[in-house]
Amino acid sequence: MSSNNPIPPDAERAAAPAPGAEPPPGATDTYRATRAVKWADFREHLATAERDGARKWIYAKKPSGRWYDRRTWLGWVLLVVMFSGPLIKIHGNPLLMMNVVERRFSILGHIFWPEDGIIFAVAMLTFFVGIMIFTAAFGRLWCGWTCPQTVLMELVFRKLEYWIEGDAHQQKALDAAPWSVHKFGVKLVKHVLFFAISFLIGNTLLSYLIGSDQLFHIIVDNPLRHLGGLTFMVLFSVVFYLIFARFREQACTFICPYGRFQSALLDENTMVVAYDPRRGEKRAPWKRDQRLELRREEGNGDCVNCHQCVSVCPTGIDIRNGLQMECVNCTACIDACDSVMDRLKQPRGLIRFASLSGLQTGQPMRFTARMKLYAGVLVALISLFLYLVGTQAEVEAIFLRAPGAMFQSAGEGRLSNLYTVKVVNKSHHDLPIEFRLLNHEGNVRVLGAARFVALQERIAETSVLVDIAANTLTNSSTRLEIGVLADGKQVSIVKTGFIGPRH
Ligand code: SF4
Ligand code: SF4
Repeated sequence: MSSNNPIPPDAERAAAPAPGAEPPPGATDTYRATRAVKWADFREHLATAERDGARKWIYAKKPSGRWYDRRTWLGWVLLVVMFSGPLIKIHGNPLLMMNVVERRFSILGHIFWPEDGIIFAVAMLTFFVGIMIFTAAFGRLWCGWTCPQTVLMELVFRKLEYWIEGDAHQQKALDAAPWSVHKFGVKLVKHVLFFAISFLIGNTLLSYLIGSDQLFHIIVDNPLRHLGGLTFMVLFSVVFYLIFARFREQACTFICPYGRFQSALLDENTMVVAYDPRRGEKRAPWKRDQRLELRREEGNGDCVNCHQCVSVCPTGIDIRNGLQMECVNCTACIDACDSVMDRLKQPRGLIRFASLSGLQTGQPMRFTARMKLYAGVLVALISLFLYLVGTQAEVEAIFLRAPGAMFQSAGEGRLSNLYTVKVVNKSHHDLPIEFRLLNHEGNVRVLGAARFVALQERIAETSVLVDIAANTLTNSSTRLEIGVLADGKQVSIVKTGFIGPRH
């Protein structure tokens, strides 16, 4: 399906105008029928597919205009952040790292451990609710302006393509031409550059996963020791090359789940890129030296049916058909139409950012009850996230009784239990760790090294022996509270059980 609107039954469809479009005054039956057929046509097959299902290659015309300039500037900033992200460190930690293999995650230089699952889940939930509220208010602005897929496709690969092969009509002519030395050379240069950039993107993604230090190590070390890492390097490069060289807009229309669930998030108050049918209909070509009054008298609107908005669209749709799933709000059609209006000395904004209800009523954007609800949830989640991060202990310890071990005699009427202990040091410095029994007389002794040190941002493991005088035990299982001291200062308390003989 190509739109958010339900498909009407055949009988209704035959008489329906375009979605959102009022039939213009004096609209003839022929006009209505033509519009209905066009509407039915766009709703029943994808703009990027032929009727037999074959891929229809989109040759998008090079966009230009104020919105494109703004998008380009934002895109350059995002590209700098994207490629330099893995190299930027805060407190020695990457700006962003999702090391799934070692289960280490760094967001804004803050390391999250598997033990911080709740904080991580709240962070992810906050991110998704943020996108939801943003979508409810501003549609797919994320897709057209900030999504890495669109930024890379439109501002890197597409620009490179225009530079090497020319604008849309030249690209189309080159593809239609028989193979020649010139065509082979042009295609070779393009695809080599595409693969080189894909390699760079693949390596960047890998460094977001494993960290730039580890990636650098893989590059300079003996390749035979890093076959896994090298395999991913090649795999990511090939996948990105295929996406940007072949798959392109289909990633947004077929694969991206966000594009799929946007229809549940948008409503008539959402700001979207929209064509104003009240102003534009009925469409008619602009006749040379035509007087505006005469055009109005003939019942024509401002749309001159020049198809400039369609030819620049990277997803190949006609925005005049109404809101469609394929629209990524890239605003290229706004620029194209504005430049046509400028040439015709008509006001800009026949295609503009507007809500569907705003188009009908002329009212500005409203902050709806749904948006307020999302905003409330978002504020609550951000508060919860800040609270969890703010109250997070720098050192966490887990005491587990050694598997299979019972109590042992420690001599002089004392009994001992053996524990395996895991200490997570989330601070940015190494910490000497000690333990102290808080609610019972007894000793806690770390086995092995004389001094137990937890290295910064690492998990340290050791074995600990707790011994207690047998005559102070009143139960076969005694609850113990053990203080964890980092650098001589108590930083947390762990609870565990001590097994003794039956009484
Ligand atoms: S319809 Fe306009 S805003 Fe939507 S994808 Fe096409 S060019 Fe971009
Ligand atoms: S660019 Fe504007 S005038 Fe031309 S077809 Fe599109 S909406 Fe109509």
